[in-house]
Amino acid sequence: MENKLVIYNTLSRKKEIFKAIKPPFVGLYVCGPTVYGDTHLGHARPAITFDLLFRYLKHLGYNVRYVRNITDVGHLENDADEGEDKVAKKARIEQLEPMEVVQHYTNMYHENMRKLNVLPPSIEPQASGHIIEQQQMAQAIFDKGYAYESNGSVYFDVEKYNKENNYGKLSGRNIEELLTTTRQLEGQDEKKNPFDFALWKKANPEHIMRWPSKWSIGFPGWHLECSVMSTKYLGEEFDIHGGGMDLLFPHHECEIAQTKIANGKESVKYWMHNNMITINGKKMGKSLGNSISLDEFFEGTHDLLKKAYAPMTIRFFILQAHYRSTVDFSNEALQAAEKGLQRLWNAIETIDKIEVTEKTTINTDEFEKKCYDAMNDDLNSPILIANLFDGVKMINSIADGKEKITADDLTKLKNIYHLFVYDILGFKMEETDRSDNKVYKQVVDLLLNLRLDAKSKNDFETADKIRNELHKLGFVVKDKKDGFEWELEGK
Ligand code: ZN
Repeated sequence: MENKLVIYNTLSRKKEIFKAIKPPFVGLYVCGPTVYGDTHLGHARPAITFDLLFRYLKHLGYNVRYVRNITDVGHLENDADEGEDKVAKKARIEQLEPMEVVQHYTNMYHENMRKLNVLPPSIEPQASGHIIEQQQMAQAIFDKGYAYESNGSVYFDVEKYNKENNYGKLSGRNIEELLTTTRQLEGQDEKKNPFDFALWKKANPEHIMRWPSKWSIGFPGWHLECSVMSTKYLGEEFDIHGGGMDLLFPHHECEIAQTKIANGKESVKYWMHNNMITINGKKMGKSLGNSISLDEFFEGTHDLLKKAYAPMTIRFFILQAHYRSTVDFSNEALQAAEKGLQRLWNAIETIDKIEVTEKTTINTDEFEKKCYDAMNDDLNSPILIANLFDGVKMINSIADGKEKITADDLTKLKNIYHLFVYDILGFKMEETDRSDNKVYKQVVDLLLNLRLDAKSKNDFETADKIRNELHKLGFVVKDKKDGFEWELEGK
């Protein structure tokens, strides 16, 4: 097993050599989506970032248990301890049962992940399936004296925890700062301190997602599910916890505090956070009106989009930036990603046509090492992609006869591309990406444009002939107001 992987640990704020707690096993937990709305570009980034990590760890020979949860209860508006549950709100507006909302958007999320070629996690637990375990953990924290009951709700006592522990160590905040910045919202007077957070909430009469407990009929606090499900499926200590940077505070900070008290020890060895996606330099968000769903990207139906972008273009766009850097969305950036990916596909097609010789003038070992070095350096996908582009030049030089390669080295070169492009970066070549496929499409379009010309000149004989001959070959042609549409039946 390679042991050169270095990852940046948000907790220590430095790069550390990755060492599994119990090799060859690796426990990986990533905070998944709250399923109350469309899957957005913002969901794609953590999914793709940790898919890259999952794929690479598996390639290095680890047996990875990857747990990515589905939040379907307890996540309230504005990530606060007061307000409506995001799922329940959607259910109320759409007049649906909350679990219908959950199922619908979970299906949508899965479909979008499949299109992005994001591998499914090993376990995908739902918060609503772990209500009893959440009550048990809240009880354990209560029994240890770090939680208090107030009006049927149970809150974590942050001030008490902070006496012996450092609350805020992950996000770099401290209690004094929190006291001045945390707003005292209406209804929060049940808390001792505004920064205390809910482990269990008593449900208001209008709150429809509710379960019985010894404290009240209510629901678990949002942060508790991840502490519970990571402990349940990965154990009291596990290797990596990931998520978006927007979850650093308060979500992950609360997770650390809860788990430390409930289990009596720190649970996570490495914390990893992906940065955010901005749109034309601005934060992306539903309330800002600039949040684009993945379906809108794939269909080109949002006002900010000049055209439709394929799922692999989105994947390339995200991976051509390092996961800890921000990515700024623009049509130009996506079109550049589209071209970049096409360059890789062209190179892969060129490799297949290369003729071998008796000797090799390029250094495949050095090339392979550079690719591994990039991945080992905190999953540096942009450097890996840059190396693969350098390789494209090398491949073209071989194809032009300026450089030479033996059969063995050619196999090696093919394997390097296969490994890094398909298996690790997770790109998938669609039929439409093949250059010969593009040419064939252009030829069909050409014929159909000739048919339109013929029709406009009242030459219906030629027009019908083109249509009928294409039909015999299995093409279904549909006339449209502004042209035509065609497909090859059964394809
Ligand atoms: Zn979480």
